Amino acid sequence: MILTPAHWEAVLEQARREYPREACGILAGRAGPPQRVERIYPMTNADHSPATYLMDPQEQFRVFKEMRRDGLDLVAIYHSHTASPAYPSRRDRDLAFYPEAVYLIVTLQERERPAGRAFRILDQDRVEEVPFQVAG
Ligand SMILES: [Zn+2]
Repeated sequence: MILTPAHWEAVLEQARREYPREACGILAGRAGPPQRVERIYPMTNADHSPATYLMDPQEQFRVFKEMRRDGLDLVAIYHSHTASPAYPSRRDRDLAFYPEAVYLIVTLQERERPAGRAFRILDQDRVEEVPFQVAG
């Protein structure tokens, strides 16, 4: 998966702004390969929680509709972790309903050094890391 520096900065900025709650959103673009992000949709975390996220269902409905209209694919679902590593939690794995999507997780465990990792979540027990690249 390839993100532009501007998209990556936007994800980090949202994660910092929402801290100490988890931030979440959708990255849309071309399914690829290579999967290329073209648009970012910051979403409201309906859980308003420091430990979980739930994309606001109404916003998600509107975003999916807009993506269909514009011929964009769901490339990734991103969210932040505030106090744990960038790895899918048990709950993240339980609620990963899009096996075709990349799950990008940003951790603010070290506030000054945010780090991200990306995964495909096939089911509860099958998590594969996928490379992601920030490039113009
Ligand atoms: Zn999580």
